Amino acid sequence: MQSETIQTVQIMPVVVQKYGGTSVADPSRIKAVADRVVHTREAGKDLVVVVSAMGQTTNALLDLAAEVSTAPHPRELDMLLTAGERISMALLSMALNDRGIPAVSYTGSQAGILTDSAHGGAKITRITAERVRESLDSGKVVIVAGFQGVDPTSREITTLGRGGSDTTAVALAGTLGAEACEILTDVSGVYSADPRVVPDARLLADVEYRQMLALAEAGAGVLMPHSVEFAMEHSVPVHVRSSFTDDEGTWLRPDVAERQFVGIAHRVGPDQAVITVIGTEAHGTATAEMVALHEEGMVTALVGSNEQSVSFSVDPEQIDDAVRFLHARLFGMETNS
Ligand code: ADP
Ligand code: ASP
Ligand code: MG
Repeated sequence: MQSETIQTVQIMPVVVQKYGGTSVADPSRIKAVADRVVHTREAGKDLVVVVSAMGQTTNALLDLAAEVSTAPHPRELDMLLTAGERISMALLSMALNDRGIPAVSYTGSQAGILTDSAHGGAKITRITAERVRESLDSGKVVIVAGFQGVDPTSREITTLGRGGSDTTAVALAGTLGAEACEILTDVSGVYSADPRVVPDARLLADVEYRQMLALAEAGAGVLMPHSVEFAMEHSVPVHVRSSFTDDEGTWLRPDVAERQFVGIAHRVGPDQAVITVIGTEAHGTATAEMVALHEEGMVTALVGSNEQSVSFSVDPEQIDDAVRFLHARLFGMETNS
């Protein structure tokens, strides 16, 4: 009798982790990220790691371009900027191989991240991820350069806009059916205001997708708006947390309820700064909050309001004070409890 070979294929859950610039800023940070990746793998997960450029590399590359050209050609600028992520992906792969973890790094183009043709602000149109899947199947940790893709028609390399590695990670997580997309950054999660401006801002355990999108669009730089849109459309669970600690962080998931007041975001331009309060009850407070800002000597005007938010313009020099003032009025009780 012929013996049958029973092949057991072990399907491991896939997790996508994205590490931002500060998290891979220097060799010691890259080694710390490698240790964290080892830890996640030991927990029995298949891993795709999306990396940003090290520290301020993207800004430094933009400065370099400005030194040689008054109007850098968009195609060449994308060729230049994509080099930043390529450095971090290769270094992380080396650090992992050193730890006995088989790893391979891919550029966006190699990973099959297809985009439209808009240099500097391309949209992902499709992800083939063929090599990513093959490498996962062969037991490797796959590292993908964030913020970049390729236009399949022109075969040109594109970038996704500042902060675009978030979108690379969420889109890859959606394509691979990952159980979660972890956004590992330099703060412990999403707060009720930028914690660098409001030190006692509240860490939010979870945020509903639409409210997160409103926060991101109003300037909460912790997530790029496109990444939130993608997560919402494809129900990708996103877990924002610190790459420096094991704090639990913030979840974006389909089952999260909207809040009456979720947070305050702000954006500063050269002549005007805009502060936005987000929450289902935010627009109802427009007049009272505008009067309160006005009485504090923070001359302000209503910029707009809808069912999720209300925005005021503030003198750029007063923006931090205005954010702290409004945060204390709307979140003060909860913050201090
Ligand atoms: P990364 O390099 O990891 O992508 P970013 O600088 O893009 O990090 O995003 C993290 C930063 O977002 C934080 O350092 C923080 O100052 C800022 N930020 C703004 N608003 C918020 C908010 N509501 N919650 C958390 N972080 C915020
Ligand atoms: N390195 C790019 C930037 O600085 C992309 C990213 O970090 O997400 O915008
Ligand atoms: Mg970012």
